[in-house]
Amino acid sequence: MYIVFEGIDGAGKSTQIRMLKEWLEANGFRVETLVEPTDSEVGKLIRKLLQHPDAKSDNFQKIFGLLFAADRMMIMDKLEDESKIIISDRSFISSLAYQSPMDWIDVLNKYAKRPDLLILLDLDVKTSVARTSGKDTFEDEEFLAGVKENYLKLADNFTCEIIDANNGINKVSSDIKKAVAPYLGICPDCIQ
Ligand code: ADP
Ligand code: MG
Repeated sequence: MYIVFEGIDGAGKSTQIRMLKEWLEANGFRVETLVEPTDSEVGKLIRKLLQHPDAKSDNFQKIFGLLFAADRMMIMDKLEDESKIIISDRSFISSLAYQSPMDWIDVLNKYAKRPDLLILLDLDVKTSVARTSGKDTFEDEEFLAGVKENYLKLADNFTCEIIDANNGINKVSSDIKKAVAPYLGICPDCIQ
């Protein structure tokens, strides 16, 4: 099973993936986690270019579209491992939500693997800014508001569970477990 976590910065993807992995492993599942951009050569180039002075220009949006699509091609094999649950921190759905134009991003990701389950951590933009203040953030509030809306629209195209990420860490975690359990045949009583 291939589970993808999406959501704006500070939504809790890293935190919640860690917690879900621990819980799934305690329930006897083998789990591998991935994160985009990856640590491949392309991923390294993406991280470097995100610091570029023109990183927000229209042309760079197209360049990032290309690079992110290439980076995800680098790890495609890993997604085919059916002996494990693969949980990915971001996916081509991030490209659709963040980059433009849409038709360009669509074409570039024609062969990207679709998740069996999308967990969308839906967070208010102001909370995102508060949670990530002092960190290396690249986006302003207005842009993030657009991304949040894009995500909610994109959710309709996938098997998706939308989780209210404004709640406390433990509440979000238990909401995620409840959402994931039916897909894996885990009994509801096992969820605290
Ligand atoms: P993401 O990976 O989506 O950017 P993180 O998991 O790194 O988000 O969380 C960003 C910051 O917000 C971290 O400092 C984390 O401890 C904190 N955080 C995560 N989830 C919550 C939550 N539900 N309530 C309050 N703070 C949170
Ligand atoms: Mg993270």
